[in-house]
Amino acid sequence: MKIQRNPTRSVRIGSVQVGAQHPIAVQSMTATHTQNIDATVAQVTALHAAGADIVRIAVDSDKDAEALGEIRRQTSANLSVDLQENYRLAEKVAPHVDKIRYNPGHLYHHERTRPWQDKVTYLAKVASDHDCAMRIGVNCGSVDPAKKERYAADDSITPMIESATEHCDLLDSLGFTRFVVSLKDSDPTKVVELNRLFAERRSDVPLHLGVTEAGLPPDGIIKTRIAFEQLIGRGIGDTIRVSLTVPNPRKPEEISAGRQILDDIAAGRLRSVVALNPQALNIISCPSCSRVENEAFVELAQQVKEMSQYAKEYAITIAVMGCRVNGPGETDDADLGLWCGPNRVNLKRGSEALGAFTYDEILPKLKAELDLVIKQKS
Ligand code: SF4
Repeated sequence: MKIQRNPTRSVRIGSVQVGAQHPIAVQSMTATHTQNIDATVAQVTALHAAGADIVRIAVDSDKDAEALGEIRRQTSANLSVDLQENYRLAEKVAPHVDKIRYNPGHLYHHERTRPWQDKVTYLAKVASDHDCAMRIGVNCGSVDPAKKERYAADDSITPMIESATEHCDLLDSLGFTRFVVSLKDSDPTKVVELNRLFAERRSDVPLHLGVTEAGLPPDGIIKTRIAFEQLIGRGIGDTIRVSLTVPNPRKPEEISAGRQILDDIAAGRLRSVVALNPQALNIISCPSCSRVENEAFVELAQQVKEMSQYAKEYAITIAVMGCRVNGPGETDDADLGLWCGPNRVNLKRGSEALGAFTYDEILPKLKAELDLVIKQKS
C-alpha cells in the first residue's frame, strides 16, 4: 500500500531523521528509576537492541540529571529527555541528550509569574546551544490550565490543539524549527481526531503519535493499532510510541509491537478498524516510567483486569496509574480510578477520592465500588 505522507519538515534527533519522507521512527521510554544507572542503562540497551530509534528518559531532579550524564557515557542510543514539571533542568540535561521533550501544561509549576513564552524561549536556546531537537508534548491529563479554562469543560480537543499550535508559532518565531509535536489521549478516537485536526493546520510539523495509558497487551496494542492505522494510513505521523503496561524486562515489546503495526500498515494488512466498543468495559493503565513508586503497580493493573472481567458488558472505565504526579489528574475522567503510591493505592470514583488502601486491600475495595457503579448503570 503506497501511503502519501504529509510533507513535514525533517527533524534530526541524534543519528535519526524524523519527518519528511524518512521512515517512521519507533521509540520507547525507560521505566526504571533514572538514578539506578545500571538498571537504566540495561533498559536503554535492551530497547536499542530491539530496534528503538530513540529512547526517552524522565528526569525530575538534579540527581536524575547527574545520573543521565553517566547513562549517556554508557550508551550510543539516541536519547530524549522528558522534563516533566521541572523545565529548568533543561540546561543540566541537554549536554547529554539528543532531544528535549517538554509539556506545555507543566510549565506553570515553577516560577509561576514568569510568562510561558520566556520559559519556551529559554528551552529553545538551551536546545540550540546543545544540538538538541525538541518535542512539544501535549497530554490530555495535563493540559495548560490557562488554555483549558477558555473552553467548555467537555471540550478536551480544542485546548490541546490551541496549546500545541501556539507553542509551534512561538518556536517558529524564535527561528527554532527543529521540533515535533505530540497530542496524546488514552482514547484512540480522540488521538485520531486531535492529530487529524492538528495536521490540517500544520501539515509541516512532524507528529509523534501515541495513545497514552493504552494499558496491558494485547488490548493496549489493539487500542494503539486502531489509532495508528487511521492516522498513518492518511499520511499523518512521523514517529510512534506504543505505551504498554508491562514489567521492566518486557519493555522491548513496545518496540516490536510498534514495528509490527508499521509493517502491517505498509503491507495493507489493516485490521477492520472498529471503533472501540463504547458499550464495553475499558481498562486504561499507564505504561509506567521512572516515577513508579512501587513496581507492584504493573501486577496490580493485571489483577484489576482479571478481577473486573465480570463487568465486561458494561460501559465502565477503570484507570490504573503508577504515581502521584500524573495519577490524580489522569484518573479524573474514569468511572473508577486507582493511583499508586509507595505503600498505598488511592481509590477514586470520578474525581472524588475514596481513600488510600494497601496493595493487599485494594482489590476488594475496588470490586465493591465496581458493583455499585454496575448497579447504577443497570
Ligand atoms: S502516571 Fe506516573 S508512573 Fe505512570 S507513566 Fe505517568 S508519570 Fe509515569
